[in-house]
Amino acid sequence: MLTIPSDIWEDMIEHARALDPHECCGILAGRDKIITGHYRITNILAKMSEAELARFDQVKLSDLKRLSPEERADIAFQMDAQEMSQAQKDIRQKDITLTAFYHSHTFSPARPSITDIKIAMEFESYREKLNIPEPVHVIISLQDKTNPVIRAYRIQDSTATEVPVERR
Ligand SMILES: [Zn+2]
Repeated sequence: MLTIPSDIWEDMIEHARALDPHECCGILAGRDKIITGHYRITNILAKMSEAELARFDQVKLSDLKRLSPEERADIAFQMDAQEMSQAQKDIRQKDITLTAFYHSHTFSPARPSITDIKIAMEFESYREKLNIPEPVHVIISLQDKTNPVIRAYRIQDSTATEVPVERR
């Protein structure tokens, strides 16, 4: 069970709406799966040039290179590393734990895509070196613009399993 306070819940939806039709992304932190910290992180796929992408030699981006930055941000996200490390610094200072990564789906349901699962598994391959506990993956769906849906998942062995989310 993941518990998200109402103000953070609303702020995540506001973040998703602000970036729509692009995907937003961010970090949630807290203690014992009760969220107390929310960090909006820039989706760098939304603003990367072709030259920058060429230097960004990750296999997962090879397919994305053919798309325009706008198209890329619609279907995927990559968190800005510097903002992530700033968030982690703040999380350490507050003595809380990085608990979840979130991103939005602007046209599809609140379920991990094949790309989401690939990115999560890639993250799993070096997560322990970063000393980060296994994150929950939260997805905000704006498929129905008047009724945003938030769901959470564990992603292990290329399989997503839903984790109940409670709004408090
Ligand atoms: Zn996704």
